[in-house]
Amino acid sequence: MNDVSLIREPGLDLQKCIDWLSSHGQLVTVDRPVDAKYELAGLGRNWEGKQAVLFTRVKDYSVPVLMGLYWNRALLAGLFGCGEQELPFLLADNVRAWQQNAWEPVVVESGPANEVVEEPDLSRLPVPTHALGDGGPYLSCCVVLARDPDTGVRNASVHRFMVTGKDRLTMMLDEGRHLRDYFRRAEEQGRPLEITINNGVDPTVYMAAMTPAAVAPLEADELGIACGLLGRPLQLLRSQTVAVEGVVNAQFILEAEILPGVREPEGPFAELTYYYGPRDLRWVVRVKKITRRREPVFHSLLPGREIAVSLAVMGEAGLFELVHRQVPEVERVRLTEGGCGRYHAVLQIRKRQEGTAKLAILAAMAAFPSLQMVTVVDEDVDITDPAAVEWAMCTRFRPESGLVLVPAARGHELNPATEAGVGTKIGFDATAPYPRPPAMERVRFLTIPTEG
Ligand code: MN
Repeated sequence: MNDVSLIREPGLDLQKCIDWLSSHGQLVTVDRPVDAKYELAGLGRNWEGKQAVLFTRVKDYSVPVLMGLYWNRALLAGLFGCGEQELPFLLADNVRAWQQNAWEPVVVESGPANEVVEEPDLSRLPVPTHALGDGGPYLSCCVVLARDPDTGVRNASVHRFMVTGKDRLTMMLDEGRHLRDYFRRAEEQGRPLEITINNGVDPTVYMAAMTPAAVAPLEADELGIACGLLGRPLQLLRSQTVAVEGVVNAQFILEAEILPGVREPEGPFAELTYYYGPRDLRWVVRVKKITRRREPVFHSLLPGREIAVSLAVMGEAGLFELVHRQVPEVERVRLTEGGCGRYHAVLQIRKRQEGTAKLAILAAMAAFPSLQMVTVVDEDVDITDPAAVEWAMCTRFRPESGLVLVPAARGHELNPATEAGVGTKIGFDATAPYPRPPAMERVRFLTIPTEG
């Protein structure tokens, strides 16, 4: 464990993260030429969930591509200078502090992300086409900044963008996202919504942008969370062609606008669900300017575990905050990988009376509309171990009394188990009765540490 966390070091950026990964044995460097279409993602998949991968030679491009910064919890915790189990609590503490005292980013006129200013030509960026059925090259790891058209409040969020021309993209604005609400109001006034698309930001900005809406409401600028994690104000960069800032330590900033009254084909795209998001007419972005570093690294993520992990750690922080407030017996939460980081929550409770597991299920479902399934287990079950959770299901769950079904509830529209986002949520109370009957006491052994 490092003494001072990397995250708090001055001048933190993606290059510093890459150096940290490299010096901690957490980086694989691929020096042979790879094609951005299919080959880069296909090769990168071999390390999914393990080390991050830097592709130094992408055919026809001079810019290296990083993948896998967010697909391994232990690696991510290392960047934040804490243990894997502590990471959601570190993030939750930071979210709570931010809710009480929102820090503000500062705006500067120049910095690394505008060392070079260019007319837009997206064909010069090594944008990978990931899965075999994808509709085109996708920007998968960009933080979008925008301002509320009515109040001016800033929003940070992550969206997928398909490259359709030199200065043109189509994008996904799923229901419930603040950016969708911003754009709806701009479009009603016949105006475009100005945005910056920031590629290659540091993990504090990315994590802040992953904050669930349930925790960061419409009127809150979630970039304050990045300030808290950094321990200093985040620096933003004034844009040249739009009235919203970019992130000063980004690799690339696309100054752009979402066009009113226009929809063009977008998709398919291999999604966090491990299904293709279908092709449809969606929102269109015109890029007005590209600013970048002199020697940038393009940041991509592989949809799947990488999204699940980054969604999960920030989601767990928020979910714990919200559910613990309602049901204080809840001690830990886990958004599982099998649940794509957003569909299945496992809650660990220390029961002090009967019936609270049910309340925890309902509280979690209400707090996090995306949840499709909630499982509650006791404090003697390791929620990070799917086999331990299954053990509780097989030996403590009573279907006649422990099952909760909530039909026709709002869920997540990308989940095909729903009908346009509406489906039946299911909850499992896999806790032992309180007080715990002797037959449900787990066996215990003497604890003896091994030598060395
Ligand atoms: Mn927001």
